[in-house]
Amino acid sequence: MNNTLIVTGCAGFIGGTFTFKALSMGYKVIGVDSFINSNPSTVNKIAQKFPEKFIFIEEDLAKSTNQLKQSINGIDFDAVIHFAGLKAVGESEHEPLKYWENNLISSTNLLSLMNAHKVKKFIFSSSATVYGDSTVQPILESNNIQSTSAYGSTKIAIEQLLKDCARAGLVDVISLRYFNPVGAHQEMIIHEDPYDMPNNLMPRIIRVALNLDKKLHIFGDDYDTRDGTGERDYIHIDDLVEGHFKAIEYVKNLKGFEAFNLGTGQSVTVKEIITCFEEVNGIPISHEYADRRSGDVAKCFADPSKASDLLGWSTRKSLEDMCLDSWRAVKKI
Ligand code: UDP
Repeated sequence: MNNTLIVTGCAGFIGGTFTFKALSMGYKVIGVDSFINSNPSTVNKIAQKFPEKFIFIEEDLAKSTNQLKQSINGIDFDAVIHFAGLKAVGESEHEPLKYWENNLISSTNLLSLMNAHKVKKFIFSSSATVYGDSTVQPILESNNIQSTSAYGSTKIAIEQLLKDCARAGLVDVISLRYFNPVGAHQEMIIHEDPYDMPNNLMPRIIRVALNLDKKLHIFGDDYDTRDGTGERDYIHIDDLVEGHFKAIEYVKNLKGFEAFNLGTGQSVTVKEIITCFEEVNGIPISHEYADRRSGDVAKCFADPSKASDLLGWSTRKSLEDMCLDSWRAVKKI
């Protein structure tokens, strides 16, 4: 073990925040990103802060791993943390082939590369979307798996690929099923980009706070939920990232495949998060009701007890922290 990690998708919101924290903790990171759905500014900030411990490779792993192969020639690495992937649910419904090609092929390419280097430890960024429209809430890892979008199908397929490889003894895998990550880490260097036409709720709220959009559209007020709007399990990025470090420890002694929910266990409606944001930041968020968004589920929140019992992980940050930090990070731009 020489504390070296390969991190794919290191320019993204989650991969970038993880990379920043990993480097702060003393890990060396070989970061890879294609910038297909991210931009170089995050990588530049990380490289400036950690010039000695961070190697960056610009490569689309679905197309080639040549540059990554060359860069790791002679370097020992302990594990791969695979964040990279296309993630826009709506787009995936219109361009399923793009999603299958990008998300699946990059994963098989990475696994082949690990296999050639005899490295087995793999942490995968999965998603609560693998549970589809579950009638059972909160959701345990043993819940049925079902797809509600092409994006979700690729997450399910990659988990299956990883289970097959783990059964054959090629890899030991932790799949982390993220609920709804928001907020920004303490240094506020990396955050979601509200200018990048996001689809998720928090960056959409931020766009209204920045006056980039006049109003937030709330997609549906007639769901079978507390107040008719969608219920989700929002989790602070710091807590989410911390789950990865716990997973890195746990996977050292793991043989096979394990999935863990990373969520708080609390459900929050769209209306509740808007009210919280308005209160803690003192900014009104104009909104109006719109039709339900196709593919949305009414409720999705975690039972995080498996991560608590086996990884020794639990969330610390409140919804207030999430709303404060999401805004503070962007305000600084
Ligand atoms: N949502 C909304 N307006 C928006 C974006 C999202 O009302 O502009 C709602 C969405 O319908 C869902 C919740 O906010 O109930 C979370 O949506 P997000 O896309 O952030 O996460 P996901 O649906 O993937 O869990």
